[in-house]
Amino acid sequence: MPVCRGILIRPCLFPRIKLIDTLLNLVFPVDCVLCGIPATEREFGALCRGCAEGFVAEEPPFCDRCGYTAPSIEGLCGRCRTGETRFDFGRSALVLDDALRLAIHHFKYNDRVSLARPLARTLRACFEREPFTAEIVVPVPLHPKRERERGYNQARLLAAGLGLPVHPNLVRRRKNTESQTGLTRSQRRLNIRGAFEARRRVDGTVLIVDDIRTTGSTINEMAKVLRRSGALRVEVLTLAGIGVLRNEQQTPVVEFASR
Ligand SMILES: [Zn+2]
Ligand SMILES: [Zn+2]
Repeated sequence: MPVCRGILIRPCLFPRIKLIDTLLNLVFPVDCVLCGIPATEREFGALCRGCAEGFVAEEPPFCDRCGYTAPSIEGLCGRCRTGETRFDFGRSALVLDDALRLAIHHFKYNDRVSLARPLARTLRACFEREPFTAEIVVPVPLHPKRERERGYNQARLLAAGLGLPVHPNLVRRRKNTESQTGLTRSQRRLNIRGAFEARRRVDGTVLIVDDIRTTGSTINEMAKVLRRSGALRVEVLTLAGIGVLRNEQQTPVVEFASR
């Protein structure tokens, strides 16, 4: 729908996009992107109520600190034990099943920004359920070129639904990294090194928000930058994470482009 796309790629002010999106949904009724029945309730965006309420919350066992799930994990995961994890506390809200995978795909690549609403609600539920203490939110930034192409930053739309002050420009992405898809963990780490810079000092507890956490390289790099800029504690909240950690040379079980 080129006309709609033209409207939606304006600078990413969430309330404005929300309003435009709601109006568009009223004028052009949408079908649920997952099951195809009419999506009649605005609060669920391009999802029907059944699909919006059908996402599965992430549950233990997961690492006490970073939140990565593994079938029999107790206490901390290997990365947290060895000091590789650079943030203090992290959780993923939902299990990455086929439905969520598809919803996120539409959200990121098909301009379905109305999906920010139901997805952000699940993030907020996780934020309130788990012992987060953050005072401000910093969405993982896209490189400006990438954001122009997409028309919005999906992490920023998600962050806007948390009810905390959002600081989308606190960290800048200065390196337009190649897609992380298909790279091993160590390749991802190298690829992302130096990709972010903080534009000012920060203090207190900062929450990084993103859609999917794969190996965690991007989040780790950003946490490092925030720490260097004065953050006392860095927390991480993502819609979903790739649960089972595989060995260093294998790519994680995910088919997403990571940004
Ligand atoms: Zn549905
Ligand atoms: Zn861990």
